[in-house]
Amino acid sequence: MTHTHAALAPNAVIGIVGGGQLGRMSAVAASRLGYKTHILTQDAHGPAAQVCSAITLGAYDDPDALDAFAKAVDVVTFEFENISADALDRLNRHCPVRPSDHILRISQDRLAEKTFLASADVPLAPWHAVTDHASLLEAAAQLGFPLILKTTRNGYDGKGQRRVYTEAELDEAFAALAPHPLVAEGMVDFACELSVMVARGTDGTIRCFDTVLNHHWHGILDLTLAPAPVPDDVALEAGRLAALIAEQFDLVGIMGVEMFLVRDGSLMVNEVAPRPHNSGHWTMDACAQDQFDMHIRAVAGLPLPHAARHSDAVMKNLVGPEDMALWPAIVAYPGHIPHLYGKKDARVGRKMGHVNILFPYGALPGDWGIQAALGPLATKCAAPSPVDED
Ligand code: AMP
Repeated sequence: MTHTHAALAPNAVIGIVGGGQLGRMSAVAASRLGYKTHILTQDAHGPAAQVCSAITLGAYDDPDALDAFAKAVDVVTFEFENISADALDRLNRHCPVRPSDHILRISQDRLAEKTFLASADVPLAPWHAVTDHASLLEAAAQLGFPLILKTTRNGYDGKGQRRVYTEAELDEAFAALAPHPLVAEGMVDFACELSVMVARGTDGTIRCFDTVLNHHWHGILDLTLAPAPVPDDVALEAGRLAALIAEQFDLVGIMGVEMFLVRDGSLMVNEVAPRPHNSGHWTMDACAQDQFDMHIRAVAGLPLPHAARHSDAVMKNLVGPEDMALWPAIVAYPGHIPHLYGKKDARVGRKMGHVNILFPYGALPGDWGIQAALGPLATKCAAPSPVDED
């Protein structure tokens, strides 16, 4: 489907639901394009509230706050997808919501997402819906062990999931995860995790940033390597899948598509996030127009530029008090491009900022070179990603 909407004029107001770092960086991009931003948030001093033009302070399910917010803006977008169906309906009454509410309804529910992607012929890890004891046993019989049980909603950074190695552990894991239903997935023996940021404009134009490789540390993204050091056909196929999903969703905005590269060279999509994504932060310094520019352009109905990178890059997340203790060394280190999110407390596991490191186009070094470039941040090796088991 192709949309034909007039572009928002300069000084129009873009409403952003959510006050975290993705909202902050989207608001900065919007201001570069001459737009104002209005944030719906519960934190008057959070990352996005510090840089926007106005805020509505209220809960994401408070009808009065939603109405006041939606009446004050020309278009609404999101920095996270866990908003209730009722809230989406309320926003829709007042102004366009981009990406549209049907995408959010699907992507906020793992089961709906897998059903949708499977119907679009997108390759997925083997999966099975688990609603009760009988379907739990059926899932185990079909997928074998080990398997992963996941909640369908509100899972992020490896939260809301359990690995199950034997039949004896099944019931305990099922009972420990809530709410039901759950999704069971076969454990994929992947070579690495890849992702693609794909944007789609109101005119149907699709732009994919380069396929990147992600390393996680205790379930949280640690490092992104751009471009992914994988064969060209793999990177191209990842881009093709991301574009296919954007088209199938009739996306307007940007979307992160996370995938596993299986050892046989095939790809499986793990999940999608219809918003700017942590694994796209490298674009802020390695591309003339980054994922936030691209997102705001799409939401505002502007033309989408090419998503070309001018440099290779490594993005390193700054997480919790351990990484923030290194801040004086990071900010003094030549070649580090730091981005802080303005969060007050550096709690364990909290994303506080990130650092981008650029390399000439085509000159991304190997693991040892990357460790050297990380300087004071070379505290963890680029190792396989252990996942929080809650
Ligand atoms: P998720 O919350 O689905 O993004 O999962 C968090 C992390 O758990 C992923 O980035 C993977 O490292 C790991 N993971 C999730 N699902 C699977 C799977 N089916 N097989 C192997 N690892 C997985």
